[in-house]
Amino acid sequence: MVEENRVGGVCLNAGCIPTKAMLYCSSLFVSSFNGKRYGLNAQELTFDETSVDRHRNLTVTKLVKGVENLLASRGVEIVSDRAESVLMRKVKCRNCEIEGDKIIIATGSCPADIPSARFDGEHIIGSNEAVKLKNAPSSVLIVGGGVIGIEMATYWASIGKSVFVVEMLDRILPLLNDPRASAIVTESLKKKKARIITGERLEKCEVFGDAVKCHLSGGESLEVERVLISTGRKPNSCVASSDLFQKDNRGHIVTDEACRTSVENVFAIGDVAGEPYLAHKASHEAEVAVSVISGKSYRKEIEKIPSCVFSDPEVATVGITPYEAEEKGLKVVWGEFPFSANGKAVSSGMIDGYARIVARKPDHVIVGGQITGACADILIAEISLALRAELSLEDLAETVHVHPSLGEILPEAARDAIGKALHK
Ligand SMILES: Cc1cc2nc3c(=O)[nH]c(=O)nc-3n(C[C@H](O)[C@H](O)[C@H](O)COP(=O)(O)OP(=O)(O)OC[C@H]3O[C@@H](n4cnc5c(N)ncnc54)[C@H](O)[C@@H]3O)c2cc1C
Repeated sequence: MVEENRVGGVCLNAGCIPTKAMLYCSSLFVSSFNGKRYGLNAQELTFDETSVDRHRNLTVTKLVKGVENLLASRGVEIVSDRAESVLMRKVKCRNCEIEGDKIIIATGSCPADIPSARFDGEHIIGSNEAVKLKNAPSSVLIVGGGVIGIEMATYWASIGKSVFVVEMLDRILPLLNDPRASAIVTESLKKKKARIITGERLEKCEVFGDAVKCHLSGGESLEVERVLISTGRKPNSCVASSDLFQKDNRGHIVTDEACRTSVENVFAIGDVAGEPYLAHKASHEAEVAVSVISGKSYRKEIEKIPSCVFSDPEVATVGITPYEAEEKGLKVVWGEFPFSANGKAVSSGMIDGYARIVARKPDHVIVGGQITGACADILIAEISLALRAELSLEDLAETVHVHPSLGEILPEAARDAIGKALHK
């Protein structure tokens, strides 16, 4: 394995894990802050960013070491070098060449800046810098209300920083294709005093000493300490020359269902092979590629990959939404159930949000689910399993769940879809 940085990639070092370590700290802060109602009386609650930094670093180091140990125990040799080009049966690195019958390209993606704001690593930053800041900026403009922008907005706003989000489309989290989920997260960010500006772009920004003056397309100017550009990422695909490898118009290496590139013995997985940019999509493709290389038949199933935005509340989704079904002309039925009608949610003060189950109209086979609410990351797994096992609304409705539990929301939503909701 050729790796130019620490093993673990973006996920462990600058993505999923550091952000979740930070969000755990801020959610604990928010819960404690709101704890009076539940009997928690703290004299003076403060948020210590040095401890957050320590927790984040310890978490990352522990998990990176874990991966290093796993690789060592399986006899994987790590070559610390930069791969420059992948050929038919050879990888040319800066300092060496490695030959192999089969090659897997897993070079990932990196943050992309925009013409109106180029990264300078200090005032105008990307996610790589944002997740490593020892001290949060006192004010920040987040350009792009996608997953990364909203998770960072949730963290910074939760710890009392002044947060502005500018999104050029008409709502944040537009790619979720779920206006209701976007509205709930918008409300929650507003409650944390973040300002959400939609339908506008960042036109220009100028750095003056320690501040950045940002001009928005609506004519407004904002002065902030830092600007986070979270408008998108680009694939690290330059190792695969276009002479040899087919690429799409955004530079992803094109692969088939077995993760094979246009060069038969070369596979590509993860972000470099296209969206969704998710760690578990990369792992899934890794399993597919390795199975195929070892002679088994295995096909990737991207449409059944769940995702979760770790906002407050979380938003998780798998399969299709009713809005997508309508766009595609698919006949579907769906049911919803609010967290506010679930016993566990009410007793734990987690009443924001809802779950939705979407199924094909003729046979009620489940084709999608969306959960906006507490523990959505965990709850969505049941719907993922339902999709994989092609379960029906009736299967889910008749599955007995622990009472009281958030899980009861799912059979209730399934019952609602067939007109038999018990508690709605
Ligand atoms: C802030 C943030 C939060 C995220 N949160 C989540 C989340 O909660 N859940 C989730 O599922 N996903 C999340 N993601 C996305 C997730 O991190 C990526 O989808 C995932 O890391 C992709 O894995 P990968 O193996 O394709 O690439 P990467 O993780 O990017 O790994 C690529 C590796 O290749 C190395 N490399 C690149 N080029 C070369 C070269 N030429 N030679 C040698 N080595 C090279 C890099 O150093 C890197 O280690 C997040 C991303 C970000 C930025």
